[in-house]
Amino acid sequence: MKNNYDVLIIGAGISGICAAYELSIKRKDLKIGILEQGNGIYERSCPIISKKVTKCAHCQECSIMKGFGGAGSFSDGKFNITTEFGGWLNSYVSDEEVMNLIHYVDGINIEFGAPQETLYKNSEKTQAIEREALKHDLHLLNADVKHFGTERNLEILKNYYQFLSSRVDIQCNCKVEDIEISEEGYLVVLENGINYTTTYLIMAPGRSGAEWFGNLCKKHGFALTNNQVDIGVRVEVPAIILEEITSNLYEAKLKYRTKCYGDIVRTFCMNPYGYVVTENIDGIITVNGHSYGDQKLRSKNTNFALLVSGTFTEPFNDPYQYGKRIASCSNLLGDGVIIQRFGDLISGRRTTASRLEKSFVHPTLAAAEPGDLSLVIPKRQLDSIIEMLYVLDELAPGIANEDTLLYGVEVKVYSSKPMHSKCLEMASKNLFAIGDGAGVTRGISQAAASGILVAREILKREGE
Ligand SMILES: Cc1cc2nc3c(=O)[nH]c(=O)nc-3n(C[C@H](O)[C@H](O)[C@H](O)COP(=O)(O)OP(=O)(O)OC[C@H]3O[C@@H](n4cnc5c(N)ncnc54)[C@H](O)[C@@H]3O)c2cc1C
Repeated sequence: MKNNYDVLIIGAGISGICAAYELSIKRKDLKIGILEQGNGIYERSCPIISKKVTKCAHCQECSIMKGFGGAGSFSDGKFNITTEFGGWLNSYVSDEEVMNLIHYVDGINIEFGAPQETLYKNSEKTQAIEREALKHDLHLLNADVKHFGTERNLEILKNYYQFLSSRVDIQCNCKVEDIEISEEGYLVVLENGINYTTTYLIMAPGRSGAEWFGNLCKKHGFALTNNQVDIGVRVEVPAIILEEITSNLYEAKLKYRTKCYGDIVRTFCMNPYGYVVTENIDGIITVNGHSYGDQKLRSKNTNFALLVSGTFTEPFNDPYQYGKRIASCSNLLGDGVIIQRFGDLISGRRTTASRLEKSFVHPTLAAAEPGDLSLVIPKRQLDSIIEMLYVLDELAPGIANEDTLLYGVEVKVYSSKPMHSKCLEMASKNLFAIGDGAGVTRGISQAAASGILVAREILKREGE
């Protein structure tokens, strides 16, 4: 029997796109397809960002999370060149190999319009910041980073699309429901009833497809290991408070072990002069952030996530549901995302619309409902967040001001990880799982690198 495809990729996020890129440039004779549940790149638009609505419109497929380009499309494209964070690809291959893959992706991005220059430079200033941070037990993770900017990031993805569209069969608005395993390969069953067969199957479902992917693994009896869940808030302060750090480092990835519980809290996804946005995963609304490259499009604020990491032990093995339920509690109370002034949180009172109006810091996300995050975030995580804010205040005075805005909740949930081989192959031959949804990565650069890694393995098997 001849399969419809040689390689089918589920998900058109950066991991799936890079796998398709590598396969299509090296082997023009392979029939490659991408199936994506969201819109095509030219049809993606978030009604909140385009100011058509103020609250999440619950679009059938959230354009922030789904569509050609994946979750990164409306991000500001901070491209981190490191193995220190952004995923766990270095638990499958060496640090050196991961870095080579990231540099390779960087080269493709430049070809498609990304900047040449990196923002972080090891200098006396950055060393002084690192030293000062250490005095407060804050551990700075150093990495080269490129900032594409939200507007340029989208252009780069459009260039990927233009390049791939003549080489790869890209189908959007096409949700995969199920897969079946046979002697000849894989049968991929779409929600609309259409089926395709393929020799190699690459699953690249991202965070928005993580629950679906986890259920599929359970159904087929693929062993899963537990993954961590990160719960926290998005913090928004006047940009000037972090100016010294952001102008030298662009973003500060700081890790801290709390005195109250010994839990790790970290700053994540810092957006100088940026905007807070909502993301919708299967009806659950959480927060994220981005910032434009164009100075004219800047806000007056800087936002960043403060996340408390937790990993569950036996017998619980569904961190995805844990994170989702905490987020849904904020949606229940706040009809979406809740916003609270730090001063109100500390005083044990909710933020009201009138208290927020008097705040010196003006929120960049109008869609958030003033409320009380202590009714949503578990005590353990909330205590850790408060402790971390006071420690950060030592490094950048003003962070723990009364008017500092906290948006909740920010949750990074991933499915439990399937047991992978070194080349990200699952327990079935020629079936691979890559990117954030497979629990391998949590950032653009490593997700893209995981796609290249798997593509090269397939090319090897095809005699390249
Ligand atoms: C607002 C925002 C800002 C961000 N900023 C940054 C940043 O600055 N730097 C950084 O490194 N990372 C950032 N991230 C994270 C980054 O976007 C992700 O790490 C990256 O996109 C992961 O790539 P991926 O290919 O694994 O998954 P995704 O990009 O999530 O793509 C997966 C795709 O699979 C599709 N899919 C899922 N299930 C199915 C199915 N059953 N059938 C068909 N299609 C399916 C989804 O619709 C989705 O389009 C940001 C994320 C967001 C939301």
